[in-house]
Amino acid sequence: MSRKRSVKDFQILDCIGEGSYSKVYKAVYLHNRRTYAVKILSKRHIVKEKKIKYVTIEKTTLNRLGHHPGVVTLYYTFQDVDSLYFVIDYANNGEMLSLLQKLGSFSEALAKYYLVQLVDAVEFIHSKGIIHRDLKPENILLSHDWKLMVTDFGAAKILNDEELPKDSLTNGAPAPTANGSDLEDSTSSSDEGTQSSSSRTGSFVGTAEYVSPELLKYNQCGFECDLWAIGCILYQLIVGRPPFKGTTEYQTFEKIIKLEYDYPANYFVPSTIKKIVEMLLISNPEERLVVADLKKMEWFKNVSWTEKDTIWKKKVP
Ligand code: ATP
Repeated sequence: MSRKRSVKDFQILDCIGEGSYSKVYKAVYLHNRRTYAVKILSKRHIVKEKKIKYVTIEKTTLNRLGHHPGVVTLYYTFQDVDSLYFVIDYANNGEMLSLLQKLGSFSEALAKYYLVQLVDAVEFIHSKGIIHRDLKPENILLSHDWKLMVTDFGAAKILNDEELPKDSLTNGAPAPTANGSDLEDSTSSSDEGTQSSSSRTGSFVGTAEYVSPELLKYNQCGFECDLWAIGCILYQLIVGRPPFKGTTEYQTFEKIIKLEYDYPANYFVPSTIKKIVEMLLISNPEERLVVADLKKMEWFKNVSWTEKDTIWKKKVP
């Protein structure tokens, strides 16, 4: 058993962000001088705001996911009287949304660079029996070398073993904790996010602009809802704004249900990209593109999906 860490093992530096029930700090681990992000959650606040479930889900999913270049790694968790601490990868280059706002929209090459990483990361997340359910550019962080890392698993759904995608058996069964020696579980790791019945049931989660029609209409959210969100993200990277955006949340939902989106006039979008968006933004989740077929689309024809180094070691365009 490795030694329990505490906040004393870290030099806490500047605050890099604030969530609704957490603060995130840049911090140096004193034993190896490596920089991490430390997410500090106030216990009193979590209990008062009834967020225990979300915090537990976030920890359980990150433990289950372990290490993957496209997912934020949770290295240590510990607590003191007032707070919970999550030590995670530090994303020097902030949120993808900020980069998008700075650039207006991405070039085709940059959009493809990130879509390839996103698809590889989501395929991995799904293979571990996890549906993210809140994919959006704010929940995609960028590392020091501009690689993408998916974060914010507070809304995720954790499937039971029998609900896992069949091919996940060939990828190795999901591990309850990854790299156990590296991870410390001083908070209880109950499976509150584990789904007990159908993988398509659940309550409203996510963000209006990226929510799938089946969630709005039938309160269902399977793996397909993450693919819907990927369609919205691809559109947004190219156009600069999400495909469905009303002035109110209600209007946004109406547009999603009616599948009401178009491309700005005089704005050239390659047909290979439009085709992917069209096949991801299909109202019926059963007809929507699945990851395996998405990877075969024309736009990705030069991508070697099995050669992970070409995906994760390639320099940003
Ligand atoms: P909410 O909980 O309200 O949905 P959130 O998910 O953004 O908000 P946090 O996960 O606590 O809340 O993140 C707060 C801010 O800190 C975010 O704006 C994010 O940009 C930044 N942040 C979070 N994790 C990291 C990280 N690993 N590296 C760098 N910045 C991060």
